[in-house]
Amino acid sequence: MIPGDTYKHQGLRKKLVETIKGKGINSDNVLEAIGKIPRHLFMDNAFLQFAYQDKAFPIGSGQTISQPYTVAFQSELLEVKKGDKVLEIGTGSGYQTAVLLELGARVFSIERQKYLFDKTKVLLGQLNYRPRLFYGDGYKGLPPHAPFDKIIVTAGAPYLPSDLIDQLKSGGRIVIPIGEGDTQKMKLLIKNEDGQLQETEMGDFKFVPLLENKDWKSR
Ligand code: SAH
Repeated sequence: MIPGDTYKHQGLRKKLVETIKGKGINSDNVLEAIGKIPRHLFMDNAFLQFAYQDKAFPIGSGQTISQPYTVAFQSELLEVKKGDKVLEIGTGSGYQTAVLLELGARVFSIERQKYLFDKTKVLLGQLNYRPRLFYGDGYKGLPPHAPFDKIIVTAGAPYLPSDLIDQLKSGGRIVIPIGEGDTQKMKLLIKNEDGQLQETEMGDFKFVPLLENKDWKSR
């Protein structure tokens, strides 16, 4: 058993799994991952009693841990297969990262808030998760590690960053919430063998913004 994870937490997690199943998540692998990961350890202590509600919560630096249903929805759309190389933009609390790792992905994740990058690196290590974590600007992706089988963006993007398209393998998938303002449209984009993107819109979601600052790295 993971230190700090009690039978009470496990019971609450079972209920959470039932809740998101009831909202339409079908993938057994995704539901199993949600049932396994101690979400309360990814949140600030002040919110511990809310960890197994299907809600987003503050994690510091003005950011939030995504709602479990949203994490499950994006993970399901990504259709992660064991060994897939997955790029995540917006590590945040690391909860989505943990779900991807439980699904068997090799995860490369980028976070632009130093405080969260440092904190999450320690936490994921303590929980024996081994993603590759990067402090940087997600708009640019990770050219040295490209191409990726799948790309997931966990902040609301004003548009689809072209660097991310370039870093996706043919046949690969991008799941990204797009839109400025309060809500975004979840989009699933699949890259055809000829490099063309086939787009499907998957409904409205609420995310914190994917922040853009073109000369971010030179500051
Ligand atoms: N997957 C996270 C969601 C965190 S919210 C979780 O489950 O907790 C979105 C995250 O994206 C925030 O941590 C925010 O700092 C980060 N972010 C915003 N703009 C970014 C950018 N340009 N590059 C990388 N990360 C970014």
